Order: sequence, then C-alpha cells, then structure tokens
Amino acid sequence: ATVALRQRLESELEDIRGAGTWKSERVIVSRQGPHLRLAGGGAGILNFCANNYLGLSSHPEVIRAAVEALEKFGAGLSSVRFICGTQSIHKDLEEKIAHFHQREDAILYASCFDANAGIFEALLTPEDAVLSDELNHASIIDGIRLCKANKYRYKHMDMQDLETKLQDAQKHRLRLVATDGAFSMDGDIAPLREICQLAQKYDALVFIDECHATGFLGPNGRGTDELLGVMDKVTIINSTLGKALGGAAGGYTTGPKPLIDLLRQRSRPYLFSNSLPPAVVGCASKALDLLMESNAIAQSMAAKTQRFRSKMTAAGFTISGKDHPICPVMLGDARLAAVMAEDMLNRGIYVIGFSYPVVPKGKARIRVQISAVHSDEDIDRCVEAFTEVGRKHGAL
Ligand code: PLP
Repeated sequence: ATVALRQRLESELEDIRGAGTWKSERVIVSRQGPHLRLAGGGAGILNFCANNYLGLSSHPEVIRAAVEALEKFGAGLSSVRFICGTQSIHKDLEEKIAHFHQREDAILYASCFDANAGIFEALLTPEDAVLSDELNHASIIDGIRLCKANKYRYKHMDMQDLETKLQDAQKHRLRLVATDGAFSMDGDIAPLREICQLAQKYDALVFIDECHATGFLGPNGRGTDELLGVMDKVTIINSTLGKALGGAAGGYTTGPKPLIDLLRQRSRPYLFSNSLPPAVVGCASKALDLLMESNAIAQSMAAKTQRFRSKMTAAGFTISGKDHPICPVMLGDARLAAVMAEDMLNRGIYVIGFSYPVVPKGKARIRVQISAVHSDEDIDRCVEAFTEVGRKHGAL
C-alpha cells in the first residue's frame, strides 16, 4: 500500500508541476521586515510581499513584550482553554480586542482560519441561511462547508445579486451575509454601506473578515466598518493577529456577548486546540496598545500606499483596487507575471506573481504590499525596478 501511495502522490505532484501551479518557498534568514536576507546569500532584499502592513512584526516594543510574556507566563499552556489553558493575559487580550473594535466581547483562536472554521457551524442550523461573496477567503468557504445552514453564493460585490439571494432566503429563520472586508487578491474593499442597507431591509446579520483591514483601514485603523461608517451595523468581526497586529499568529471573533459565550461552548477549533502561547499574546497585546495610543503608524502606511499607487499609475501600470496597501500590478499573462517577478528579485525586489487558479484566467498579476516601514526611497526603488522590468518584457 505504501508503494502504491508513493506512486499516486508522485503523479499528483507531477501534475501540479505540469500545471505550473507549484508553490515553492524562499527561505528567509533574517527577521520579517522591509529589508530581508535570503538563504543562499541574497542580502538587502527589499520585501514587498508581506502582510506586515504596519511594520510591527519586528517592532522593538512588540518583541520586548513577547519576551516578557515568555519569561513570566512560560512557553505554552499544554492545554486547551477550558481545561487549564486560560491565563490572565488571554482574558486581557480578549478584552482589549473587544474594546479596540467597540464590541461587547471577543474570543481568541489559534488563527483566523480557525475562527472562520468555528463560527458558522456553531451559529447556524438547517433553519438558517448564509449568503457569501463568491471571492471570500478559503477559510470562510471551508467554515461555511462545515455548517448545515442553507448556502447562497452571491457574485463578487454584486449588490443586485445579493438582494436577489436575500429575497430568496427570506424563508429561513436567520440570514447571515458573510464577506471579506478587504479582498486580498484584488485589494478591493467590500461595499459595506450597501451590504448593511440590504441587511437592514431584509432583516439579516452582517459578518466581516477583517484580516486585511484590522489595524490600518479607517481613521483609527479599526477596519472596513470604521472606514465606511458602519461600525454599529456590522454584527460579527473575525480577524487575525498574524498580519498587521504584530504578525505572530492567532485570530479572533468579536461581537455580541451571547455569541462569544456560545462560541466558548460550541466552537470546535476553540474547544479542541491549544491556547495561544504567551509570547504570541504579548506581541498582539502590545501591537494593539501602540495602535490605540496613536494612529500615526496607520497614517504613514496610507501615505506610502498613495505614493506607490500614483507613481506606478504615472509609469503606465494598472493597479487594481483603491487606497489599499495591497497593490496588484495587473499584467494579464501568467508567464509575464512569473518572469517579471523573477527579474524583480534579480534587482533585489521581492514580489510574487499570481496566476490561475489563484486568480481568474487572463488576470495574472504581481501583488505588491506596502508597509508603514517602507521608506520613500524603498518605494521609489520598487517603482524604478518595475519600470525597467516592465519595459524589458513589453508590459509597458
Ligand atoms: N481570512 C483572510 C481574508 C486571510 O487573508 C487569511 C490569511 O491569509 C485568513 C483569514 C487566515 O488568517 P490566519 O493566518 O490568522 O489563519
């Protein structure tokens, strides 16, 4: 059986290579940050492909907070939360998250993938309905698969289609509209105002995944709901501690207290997986303190994003999305995206090309992500390299 398995796996791997969708991993031998050192000698590489939007992954105060939490509370809990895995720092962080989002309560998970895997099944029954944007993150799709509610998938950000589906779903007890706040492949932002209006009209609840929004969208970095003025209309937020909020790991749900209480009783990734390690809790907690003290970091990221988007557009590139630090440089052709990304790395700029099946056919792109810790010179060097490489390969 092992030999047969090996043959089947080899053939599957060959198919992946043949389809050109093989994902390889570049090995970094330094901290996460705007400048990286790669294994094999690549030093001083400019990094434009991390979700480290605020540069907090290597912030000295964030690292110090992690070390202090490690010293005081140990390496880990060797337990799930409800057996003997809850420390005061877990409760403090949950309170801080709820306060940050102006919600009643919050619950921590090992990741936002887990938060998304755990919420739909715990909340929705066959009497209910969930309406999901077709381009929602894989973890929302998987979470919805696990629940027994009636499932509706509406066209990406298409409010007419959502309304039709909401009308159809009126027969169910409860309706939950689920959307990413910001979509990571296109850098586009969900039309939350319109979604909330429809939700009100058809008596539905709104759930948003804020992984690419928490900490930096909106005047105080609260997220898409703050940016679009609907903080009081969105009922449930799931987000990550693994991107802008220090970048270590962890996720959470924040919303009404009875919902959070129910998740503590019913949500399987919460009940059956280890507590967040103290060092990770320390990082996220400090990141939130820094953001609640001042919105200067988030503002500086917005200015850098504006610089990159306007210079690239002036150079002749098409950048998808609007005002978001995810800046997809649209190229169309999959091979062009791959060779240009490789050539960018030869010039010391680390960016990644995405093509089918990660994005639709004919919509290949290089996704650039801006961070508050990029300097203006870093941004300008990236634009210059894109211009050179784009001219060389006929993209401009
Ligand atoms: N939701 C979205 C929109 C994401 O982009 C990601 C991560 O890529 C996740 C959820 C999962 O987050 P985590 O890394 O905390 O599991």
